[in-house]
Amino acid sequence: MKAYLIGKLFFAAVLCVALTACSSTPSTINPEGTNDANANSKDEEQEIHWSYSGDTGPENWSTLDTSFEICAEGKEQSPINLEKAKTSAAAEANINIDYQPGAFTVKNNGHTIQAEALTDDNTIEIDGDEYQLVQFHFHVPSEHQLEGKHLDMELHFVHKNADGQLAVLGVLMKAGEENDALAELWAQMPKEETQAAVELTDPVDLTSLLPQNKAGFHYNGSLTTPPCSEGVKWVVLAEPITVSQEQIDVFAAIFPDNHRPVQPWNDRDIYEAIAE
Ligand SMILES: [Zn+2]
Repeated sequence: MKAYLIGKLFFAAVLCVALTACSSTPSTINPEGTNDANANSKDEEQEIHWSYSGDTGPENWSTLDTSFEICAEGKEQSPINLEKAKTSAAAEANINIDYQPGAFTVKNNGHTIQAEALTDDNTIEIDGDEYQLVQFHFHVPSEHQLEGKHLDMELHFVHKNADGQLAVLGVLMKAGEENDALAELWAQMPKEETQAAVELTDPVDLTSLLPQNKAGFHYNGSLTTPPCSEGVKWVVLAEPITVSQEQIDVFAAIFPDNHRPVQPWNDRDIYEAIAE
């Protein structure tokens, strides 16, 4: 595990040296994507500075680089407004979530707070295909809407299968009881953008970051960050988990708004998801 971490840090160092064009965010990793060393084709995209407002905000992402054009031209973009009335009653997606407490590092990548898995034993199965958890991160407010409304936050568990395809499990979050499973992560949250990730002392109890009722929505979408690549399998659970208002405030003090607005549905199939 240590050797793996050292390898990752070495890669991060090499990446820092390699990427000089955008010195303010030299190793920006898109939150929805992976940060693996094999993401060579994405190195150039990582140089492009983008943000959540103004000239480099979501309305202008497609103009920042030719590789970002799909952000505007794509027909299967995320997030979307999820409505029960739009789901196909005839089709159900079977989701199997197999999470256990695991070791993670935490970093501020300039766009979100991201926890990266140091183990590969957390998996999700969607209609028989298995995906491994790579990282999870947060948005304020929620990116998906539920029946036309944003919730306070959204948690994205990003997974990858053997073919490199991505599946993201979205968990909505609302103000309420404090979430103990996030306590250490929140305490270690870097306020400034960081290159090196901090290893958390205790395992993160991922199952405590899932709601009791795991019914939700399944649809084909995209990364919600540039380059907005499509072909991402989305599962968004309908029942939110709670975080305290104080926990929301701590995150929002670093990222007051890091959500992409909802994108056109374009008559895509949205399935009822039954997760276990
Ligand atoms: Zn995300």
